[in-house]
Amino acid sequence: MTDTVSEPILGIDLGTTNSLVAIAGGTGPRVLAPEGENPILPSVVRFERDPTGRKAVVGEDARDRAHEFPHTTVSSAKRLMGRSVEDCAADLPYLGYAVVGGEHNTARIALPLDGPQAPPEIISPQEVSASILAELRARAERALGRAVTKAVVTVPAYFDDAQRQATRDAGRIAGLEVVRIVNEPTAAALAYGLGTARDAKRNEGVRHVAVYDLGGGTFDISILRITPSGDGDSGTAFYQVLSTAGDTRLGGDDIDNAIVRTLTEGIGVEIGPDAALPVESRRAIARFARAIKHRLSDEEAAEVRIDLGEGRVYERTLTRAELEAMMAPLVERTIAACERALRDAKDALDGSPIDAVVMVGGSTRIPLVRARVADFFGIEPYTALDPDTVVALGAAVQGAILGGDHRGALLLDVIPLSLGIETRGGAVAKLIMRNSPVPARATEQFSTSVDGQVSVKLNVLQGEREMAEDCRSLGEFHLTGLPPMPAGIPQLVVEFLVDANGVLNVRAAEKRSGKRAGIQIVPNHGLTPEEVDKMENEALEHAREDMTRHRIADLIVNTNLDLKWIGERFERYADKLSEADRGALSDLMRTARDLVSRAEADWSSVDADELYRTKDALDRASVPLQEIGIAESLKAEN
Ligand code: ADP
Ligand code: MG
Repeated sequence: MTDTVSEPILGIDLGTTNSLVAIAGGTGPRVLAPEGENPILPSVVRFERDPTGRKAVVGEDARDRAHEFPHTTVSSAKRLMGRSVEDCAADLPYLGYAVVGGEHNTARIALPLDGPQAPPEIISPQEVSASILAELRARAERALGRAVTKAVVTVPAYFDDAQRQATRDAGRIAGLEVVRIVNEPTAAALAYGLGTARDAKRNEGVRHVAVYDLGGGTFDISILRITPSGDGDSGTAFYQVLSTAGDTRLGGDDIDNAIVRTLTEGIGVEIGPDAALPVESRRAIARFARAIKHRLSDEEAAEVRIDLGEGRVYERTLTRAELEAMMAPLVERTIAACERALRDAKDALDGSPIDAVVMVGGSTRIPLVRARVADFFGIEPYTALDPDTVVALGAAVQGAILGGDHRGALLLDVIPLSLGIETRGGAVAKLIMRNSPVPARATEQFSTSVDGQVSVKLNVLQGEREMAEDCRSLGEFHLTGLPPMPAGIPQLVVEFLVDANGVLNVRAAEKRSGKRAGIQIVPNHGLTPEEVDKMENEALEHAREDMTRHRIADLIVNTNLDLKWIGERFERYADKLSEADRGALSDLMRTARDLVSRAEADWSSVDADELYRTKDALDRASVPLQEIGIAESLKAEN
C-alpha cells in the first residue's frame, strides 16, 4: 500500500550509543534491518584512508575494534553535535579521539588518517552522524528493496536550536531530507499511541506523561503534556515538553563499571593485588560484566568464569540481590532527577496527575529500575514495547502520519480480536470479547490439572478460534513458586486489563499462596486490518468444528481427572464392591481410557457425545465406590 504508492518516510533514532531505523506502513511500525542482521546499529564510526579519500566503517565492527584504532574511531559524536569546544569540555576526557575548535569555535574532530606524523584530517560531528544516517538509510533500502530519501529523526528534548540544526545538516549530508525533528520522549509516547488522532477522540482532556529514558551513558526524564488537536483524523495532538531533567553521565555503563570493580577486587584477592592482568583479560572482564548484568535482568543468579591466562581461572556467583545493592545509588540518582522534573513542571501541572509513564532505553529492562519507577510515580510504567526500539518506532509513526497514512499507525477504539488465555488441553478461555470498547477489564478463575504443580505457564492469546494453536500468541509468562497442591485445588485468578491506550496488562495470582506474576503487551501492535479480517473469517469457517474440538478438549481433561480419582479408590476398595459393580466399573474405565487416548491422539476420531456419555456413565457407576470411600474414612476417624 503506502509502501509502494507514495514514498515512505523513515523513522530514525539517532542515539548516543545505538541507532535504529523503522517504518510504519499498513502493518504498524516495525524496525528495519537487512535479512539476518541486527536492527540495532552501534553509533560508532571508524574512518580509514582509501583511494577515493575517506571511508567510513559504521556499526559493530567499528565498536568491537575500537581498541585497535583508538584515534580514528569516533563514538558518542552526538555529544558534540552543534556545540562549541567549551560546551563539551566535560565530555572531552571520555573521548578517545582528539577534539579541536573549528569555525566559530564549533567542536571538530581531528583524525590522524595518514599516521601520527602527517597533519590530521578535520571533520565535523555532523559528518560522523551523516555516516551513521547513510548506513541506516542503506540498510532500510536493502530491507525495503526500494530507494528512500525522507526521514523523521529524533533528538533529546533538551537539544537547543543549534543541536537540532546540526542534526538536520547531518541528514542533508547523508542525502536524507529530514522532514521533521521530533523529541525522543514524544516519539516514545507516540509509539504507544498516546496523542494519535483516535487516541485524542477517546481521551477528551489534556494528559500528562512522564518518559523515563535510561540508556547506556545517559539518563533523561521528560514530563510531557498532550493536548488533543481536535481536528478529527488529520493528525496528532500537540506535544509540549513541560520539563526535562537528567544526567548526561549516568546509565548502564556505570552499572557495568560497578560490576567490573567487584570482579577485579575479587580477582585481586585471589591472585594478589599487584598481579597485573593482561589487557585481554581486562577486556574480557568488561564484556562479562555486561553479559552478567543482562542475565540478571531475567535470572536470580549468574555464574562468572573468567580465564585469567596462564592457567588461572576466576569463578564466582553473582546474585541479583548483590547487583541491586551495587546499583541502588545510581537508581536513586535517577529518582532524584524525576523529583526535579516534577518540581519544575509543578506550576504547569497545577495539580494534575501523571497519567502514564513510558519506559525507554535498554537499562529499563532491569527489574529494580522498573519497580522503583512504578513506586515513585505510583503507576505501572509502560514496558510492553521493546525499550531499545520504542523511540524509532514512534518516529516511524510520526513519519507515517506526515505521509498521510493513519491506519497502520493508530490504535483502535475497540478491541478488534478477542483476548484470552490458554487453558488445560490447549483450549482458549476468552476473557475479553472482540468489539469490546476500551478500556476493558475481566477476571477469571482457573486451577491446575496436574498434581503438585509448582509453576503454571500462562499463554496470552488473541483471536476468535477455540484452540490455542489457531490463535496468535501475544506472550507467555510463568507463575512460579506455588506450593505443591493436588490438581484442582490452587485458585489462579487471571485479570486482563486493557487501558484507554490499548495496552494490555495481564496479572495472575494464586490465592492460597499469594504468588503473583504478570506481563504487559500491546495486543494490536503490528496487526493489520487484513489480518483482523482473515482471523475473523477463519473463525466463522471453523465455528462448528472448533466448538466440538473445545468440548472434546474439556472432556479429555475432566475424564482424566475422574479416571485418576476413581482408579485410586478402585485399587483400594475393589474387593468391597459387588461382583457386578466391579465388572461394570472396570469395563467402563477401560472404555473411557481407550476413548480418551484415541481423542488425545486425534480429536476428530471420536464422537464428542459418545465421550460425554461414557464419562457420565463412568461417574454414575462410581457411586458405590464413593459410598464405600465415605464409610471407610468415617471408620478411620472413629
Ligand atoms: P543509548 O540510549 O545510550 O544509546 P540504549 O537505550 O541502547 O542506550 O541502552 C543501552 C544500555 O542498555 C546498555 O548499558 C545495555 O547494557 C543496557 N541493557 C540492554 N539490555 C539490558 C538488559 N536486558 N538488562 C540490563 N541492561 C540492559
Ligand atoms: Mg537512547
